[in-house]
Amino acid sequence: MTQEQAASHPIFRFAPSPNGLLHLGHALSALLNLEMARKSGGLMLLRIEDIDRVRCTTRLENMMLEDLEWIGFEWDSAPRRQSEHFGEYRERLDQLEKAGLLYPSFATRAQLRQLSLISNDGALWPRDPDGSPFNPSSEKGIGLAERKLRILQGEDFSLRLDTGKAVAAAGKALFWLETGQNRALPAKVVTANPAAWGDVILARKDTPASYHLACVHDDAQQGITHVVRGLDLFHATSVHRLLQELFALPVPTYHHHRLVLAQDGRKLSKSRSDTALRHLREAGVSVDEIRQMLGLDPP
Ligand code: GLU
Repeated sequence: MTQEQAASHPIFRFAPSPNGLLHLGHALSALLNLEMARKSGGLMLLRIEDIDRVRCTTRLENMMLEDLEWIGFEWDSAPRRQSEHFGEYRERLDQLEKAGLLYPSFATRAQLRQLSLISNDGALWPRDPDGSPFNPSSEKGIGLAERKLRILQGEDFSLRLDTGKAVAAAGKALFWLETGQNRALPAKVVTANPAAWGDVILARKDTPASYHLACVHDDAQQGITHVVRGLDLFHATSVHRLLQELFALPVPTYHHHRLVLAQDGRKLSKSRSDTALRHLREAGVSVDEIRQMLGLDPP
């Protein structure tokens, strides 16, 4: 889709994971998406990111939908549920595997942590923007026969993108357009830096796709033209741009919005339930008050 088509038929999405109760941060994201979609005459879609089959439950999904309806979020067609599309993610992984861009990694989290404590010639072990240690490049040297054997023997593994090779395969610098909340203002061009992520995990032995892979595939499947999400995912966009390029997918425009912080200044999390929408509602807080707390105008 060209920039002109995207501007005349904008499609937005809100993509929560039902692995805990929605909090004020989710409400801000959902309501900003809705406001931007309605103002531009665009479509508002809902995607349920329930790849994690252990933490995401039907009960949490139902509560999530109830909470979204309560705050006045509306979506224009049936939600897309990621757990119903594992076959498509597998095909994407196969594509990368055929291009030689994927390798199995056997290093455990504990081993990576250990490695990252040992300095490398006095230099610090590199970490990705989320703070996870890079995977050691030695794993790329494990021969095919050994890889097969270890997998057959039931060893745990994840599938990692060989980011260096992938950047070379993309063959050019990658960019995205970052808009402000007011789309009338000019967008900024941001240069993607996928190398900052090291070799990202795209699947695990028991989880057939990572967030990055499923998100990029689904944004394209749903024809998303505008991704509006929290600033905590700003750096992830570098990985998303690389995957879009490898799969020759259209590139949405992005807006990463401010985060709602807890009173102690920390990022809200689903495990801390003090700002859960459900608990605020039970405590008698109204939707108007929620909007005020988020600094949003009345609808
Ligand atoms: N599922 C992600 C979350 O709940 C959001 C993904 C996105 O908007 O790209 O944080």
